[in-house]
Amino acid sequence: MEALMSAQFNTLVLNDKLFPVGIIAWQQAVQMCLDGGARRIQAYPGRFVRSARLDVPWPSVILDPSRTVRLGLTANRRNVIARDRFACQYCGVEPRNGVGHPNTDLLTIDHVVPRCQAEYGYVESWYDGVCVPVSSWENLVAACEPCNLRKAGRTPEEAGMPLLSVPTSPGIFTSIRILVSRVKAMPATWEPYLEL
Ligand SMILES: [Zn+2]
Repeated sequence: MEALMSAQFNTLVLNDKLFPVGIIAWQQAVQMCLDGGARRIQAYPGRFVRSARLDVPWPSVILDPSRTVRLGLTANRRNVIARDRFACQYCGVEPRNGVGHPNTDLLTIDHVVPRCQAEYGYVESWYDGVCVPVSSWENLVAACEPCNLRKAGRTPEEAGMPLLSVPTSPGIFTSIRILVSRVKAMPATWEPYLEL
């Protein structure tokens, strides 16, 4: 299949309740529609995916009825920083690049209760005492490098560095905000499905 446009034209995936469940590469979306597992419900206006065998509208939104589970985003670096709105959770600084976009290179991931205090991979949550995996949503926050260095192997209490917000596993609204933050500009055809 010939790529006529750049990979920025991603595809929003909805479940059978028209609820957003993910953002995937358009190539994958085309394939899912060809396989019959998904159905195209919106296309990028005036854009087509063309090859020797194929000439179809470029999918911007597809419906995948097999996606019945809710969004379960991984607590990786990119997602944690997006959940924390690209801001250090200790001092609030929001590093920007030359054109005003968030500069994630200047943010690190901090283990709230440090790894050196974990037992069998678990820590006691710093605010409610519940046991959570050391690298879970509840124990990871975005931190600027100076704050991370200053805090070192200590809890916020031990370091005298209170957190600006309680880190939690993202609910559906936050998950969608995290997903949308991956695309530079949100396609107009997605908007009706993301107004929650
Ligand atoms: Zn900071």
